[in-house]
Amino acid sequence: MFFQTGFLATGVVKRLVCAYFRCRMRWCSSSMLHPLRCVRVRSCARRGKNTVPLWIREVWAYMRLLVQSLYFSSLTDSDVVFDSVFEPVFWTVDYVTRWFGTVFVCLVVILTGSILAIAYLILLPMIFRTYTPLWIAWHVCYGHWNMVMIIFHYYKAITTSPGSPPTEKNGSPFVAVCKKCIIPKPARTHHCGICNRCILKMDHHCPWLNNCVGHFNHRYFFSFCVALAVGCVYCSISGRNLFIEAYNAIETTYQTAAPPHTFKEKLIHKSIIYMWVLTSTVAVALGSLTLWHAVLISRGETSIERHINSKERNRVVKRGGVYRNPFNHGRLNNWKIFLGVEKTSHWLTRVLLPSGHAPPGDGLKWDVFPVKKDLIPV
Ligand SMILES: [Zn+2]
Ligand SMILES: [Zn+2]
Repeated sequence: MFFQTGFLATGVVKRLVCAYFRCRMRWCSSSMLHPLRCVRVRSCARRGKNTVPLWIREVWAYMRLLVQSLYFSSLTDSDVVFDSVFEPVFWTVDYVTRWFGTVFVCLVVILTGSILAIAYLILLPMIFRTYTPLWIAWHVCYGHWNMVMIIFHYYKAITTSPGSPPTEKNGSPFVAVCKKCIIPKPARTHHCGICNRCILKMDHHCPWLNNCVGHFNHRYFFSFCVALAVGCVYCSISGRNLFIEAYNAIETTYQTAAPPHTFKEKLIHKSIIYMWVLTSTVAVALGSLTLWHAVLISRGETSIERHINSKERNRVVKRGGVYRNPFNHGRLNNWKIFLGVEKTSHWLTRVLLPSGHAPPGDGLKWDVFPVKKDLIPV
């Protein structure tokens, strides 16, 4: 009888527990929850299903639901997690880069100015004294053309806005909405954390320009890189013998008791060594960077799109497809579009001479999967 009553009581309690778990959020008072939980926990422990106390599992489930409701997204992947974890680092880098932008621009002006000063005060008089008229004409003409190209393109690259999408609705097609600016983003537009705005056909943020490289100043940036790299190669090659002479003279000075050179001669030697070391270093570093950008321009993609296209290509190839860059017009056409060459004479007037022409298009609308035909006969 006792066992029968106990069995019935246990059955009632179990039914109560089941009813509680069916509608626990509806009506159970807190005074009832505790004994019911204890019974449920003991019952579960006896069955050996789960030894973790119910309240811990409930708290865990609640915390998990809370975190997922705040952060879960079907688009979340390792990149999003990586970006979120390193957000403070990116913010610090952006802040420092923004602050150092002016310092870097001053550094470019001072270093370039020092090379020009050495060229005018030391090298040019030396050339006039020792070279033949033909070599003098070559060095004077080429040197000044290269100097004008460097100064013009650097000035235009730092003062020309790369372009931003309009903040008002204008009917232009867009592919996404910027999460930071809350404005529609046209194709090839990306947000720059340092400039704190969206940039049309963004390539990268350049600290040496203290400006973003985008649709309207990409050509100035690239032409500046080419002019400076070529200028450094020119200085490095033409000044090689002078560097060897100056280096040997300095070595001799250190090895002998009485210096055989005057202060002015030693200053000239040190200036030539400084110029050669600086221009050779920049020629290698900037030359590599310029070649890489030339490859990207040939493919019709920016530095950012190179990563996007690479990722998409891998994804499509895994599915057995063939990926095609939607903005690739073919190698030669990409160069013509990038340089703004619309007729044959433009190769001279717009490429080999300083030119302030705007790039084709407004940076908002782009031809997707264009037909690869020659834009102009060359
Ligand atoms: Zn933005
Ligand atoms: Zn920027």
